[in-house]
Amino acid sequence: MQAFIAELIVVGSVEFTNELYTKIYFSGCDFRCPYCNKPHMLETKPEQQTEIREIYNKLENQRETVEGVLLTGGEPCFQKQALIEICKKAKELKLKTVLDTNGSKPEVIEALLKNELIDIIIMDFKASLKQDFNKATNSATFFKSTKKIIKDIKQTLEILKAYDEKTEIIFNTTIVPGLIYKKEELLEIAEEIKNINAAWQLQPFTNETVKDKRYQDIIRPTSSFIENLKEAIRKEYPKMRIN
Ligand code: SF4
Repeated sequence: MQAFIAELIVVGSVEFTNELYTKIYFSGCDFRCPYCNKPHMLETKPEQQTEIREIYNKLENQRETVEGVLLTGGEPCFQKQALIEICKKAKELKLKTVLDTNGSKPEVIEALLKNELIDIIIMDFKASLKQDFNKATNSATFFKSTKKIIKDIKQTLEILKAYDEKTEIIFNTTIVPGLIYKKEELLEIAEEIKNINAAWQLQPFTNETVKDKRYQDIIRPTSSFIENLKEAIRKEYPKMRIN
């Protein structure tokens, strides 16, 4: 079996912990967020085809050095079978598995959770499902409407709720000036996730590797701007674990 892998960084720390992880960047993504900072990973390319055995070898070689494996991208759930097989191997090696996803493939997430293949899920909650979701994600296509994408994300939320005692769940929202920055919109996201046992992190947009010219000059929101948003959310949802 082969997988389309844009990068495989053998050892790297993961943002929410100081532990070392093998990071696997799957190429291909069904979203085209205008502020994406990994534009080079959105399409699969023939030269990225990697034998799964090669990935297993790297995981085996790194077993003593790392705590786990971070499956990120692009969108890892786009390559269901390869993702499942890599997770099985990681579990065999007793490595922690962390999945970074946009949440648009509920059937893949359910398969992973059902088979106890994932320890931590970081789901990017891109924008309120009640606002113009497509503006923030540019995800609608001829084959898949925004309505269907939102339906799938809602299904993922239901699945996460069913597994939130066994799996650590972290939602992640990028605050992008002019796009995703309004208190009202964040409160709508809070309403969607309030019954899921999860942490929620708001992270600032950075323009360093953004390809879309409209976002290259947009500056990073200040930490006090983000803190104010967090405070506003905490006021309405005091039990929300927001960081
Ligand atoms: S979901 Fe992630 S990888 Fe895909 S376009 Fe959006 S930011 Fe980029």
